Amino acid sequence: MVRKTYGLVALAILVAVTGCGGGGGRGAPAPSSAAPSSAPSGTPAPAGSGPAAAPDVARWTKWGLSPLPAAPAAPADKPIKLKATGPVPVFSEVPTHDKVVFVTIDDGAEKDPKFVEMLTDLKVPVSMFLTRDIVKDDYGYFKPLQALGNHIHNHTTDHPVMSKLSPERQKSEVCDAQTALTQQYGTAPLLFRPPYGDGANTPALNTAVQQCGPRAIVLWRESMQIHDMQYQASDQKLKPGDIILAHFRGPKDLKGESMTAMFGELLSRIHEQGFSVARLEDYVQPPTG
Ligand SMILES: [Zn+2]
Repeated sequence: MVRKTYGLVALAILVAVTGCGGGGGRGAPAPSSAAPSSAPSGTPAPAGSGPAAAPDVARWTKWGLSPLPAAPAAPADKPIKLKATGPVPVFSEVPTHDKVVFVTIDDGAEKDPKFVEMLTDLKVPVSMFLTRDIVKDDYGYFKPLQALGNHIHNHTTDHPVMSKLSPERQKSEVCDAQTALTQQYGTAPLLFRPPYGDGANTPALNTAVQQCGPRAIVLWRESMQIHDMQYQASDQKLKPGDIILAHFRGPKDLKGESMTAMFGELLSRIHEQGFSVARLEDYVQPPTG
């Protein structure tokens, strides 16, 4: 029961991608701390597993935010199960009763070191849909975000309107990005998102995706702007399992706001509605065998 209203939003956000702007003045990546855990002295924190500890409030207040509720444990039986062959499903939400939403971040134009610091502090899971030609000037920027457990997915080589391209060109958009992202990040993207959501339900795009490796096409239910979200639902509310679209964008595209300010607003909109953020890949079963 996928709600098929993506078309309404797809062409409403034909925002020109401005290429690889921003990111100036970025120095060497900050060395990650040698300490295995950020736990204060005293009781040792269980390393990495087990139920989430109480959120480190100081890390949220540093960014002017209130901690989000901890996400529930990842479901043992993942509600979306992908197949190794055949047509790929198209989804914009995950069927779940958990009070969670999923955050996806697209393109990769803005490469703000402060955003890496923010996600390192807050540990909010995100899924990144990267466009090869927008990230190729600095593939390395995304590696610390990947090291936090965040997955990288396929968002074409140069961000075209896919339905205007021949089937062959669509295939090269998906396959060439798949090759580059796999080479750079060491793991093949499982998911694909077409720019603007365009062409998602066309046979030509589905075939191209099948030929190149991703096993699903992922759209969204909400789109984050600068301060607020655009909702497809008429009641303007988040629903359990909604996928939210955001972008790696900086002041040039956000009327002077920073990536971290935009992301803080996004988290505030989620917090207001009592949701937590879960990891999309915890709800999606890759093909087995
Ligand atoms: Zn995009």
